[in-house]
Amino acid sequence: MGLVENISGIYKRISHAAMRSGRSPEDIILVAVTKGAGIDKIREAVDAGLRVFGESRVKEAEGKISNLKSQISNSEIKWHMIGHLQKNKAKQAVRLFDLIHSVDSVELSELLNKYAGEAGKVQRVLIEVKLSHEEAKHGVGENKLRELFKETVQMSNIKVEGLMTIPPYSDNPEESRPYFKELKRLRDEHGLKELSMGMTNDFEIAVEEGATMVRVGTAIFGERGRWGGK
Ligand SMILES: *Cc1c(COP(=O)(O)O)cnc(C)c1O
Repeated sequence: MGLVENISGIYKRISHAAMRSGRSPEDIILVAVTKGAGIDKIREAVDAGLRVFGESRVKEAEGKISNLKSQISNSEIKWHMIGHLQKNKAKQAVRLFDLIHSVDSVELSELLNKYAGEAGKVQRVLIEVKLSHEEAKHGVGENKLRELFKETVQMSNIKVEGLMTIPPYSDNPEESRPYFKELKRLRDEHGLKELSMGMTNDFEIAVEEGATMVRVGTAIFGERGRWGGK
């Protein structure tokens, strides 16, 4: 299947999932995850109507963003940082990204606040929450979240808009549901708006549970292949 069919298929599935849970499909943003996808594919996705793109590495994003800009000038195109952000990349991240989904420490918030101030920008961010006990994952647990939120909301060049999570991978998307419910509970508790949750294998469950942003790569661009830029 081509990109256009893939994308319209995903929008349909988002709509149906939204309707099943009494939500409006317009309240859900599709973030097209371009890691491992080349610039031609990204241009095709822009032509197909996508406007919000996600990358998990600053360096890969930097090349693509400037390359795309040299080819098309469309101010509606937004880039989101969805992967773990290293502190030494914070300055570039502020320059490149409309929204950073992966704030996970006060130190990182402080750096983003400083660089955003220097750039005369208010950086929109989400806090990444880790709800499982997996070693390899980034994000803060529930207790640390309270502390990080309290500190970060006071920073004048940062706007905390919501929470993000990545549940443990399972072939059965239903297994993600409790994690999505928990993230929504924490989002509501902190009075925030955005919920970034759901990927190719579980985005419909995420929408049923209240996701306002789903991050989908494989279902749009195809398999990344074995070494395809995780
Ligand atoms: C790669 C990635 C995605 C997209 O995953 P797919 O399974 O290809 O849809 C979403 N979120 C994050 C944080 C990722 O790194």
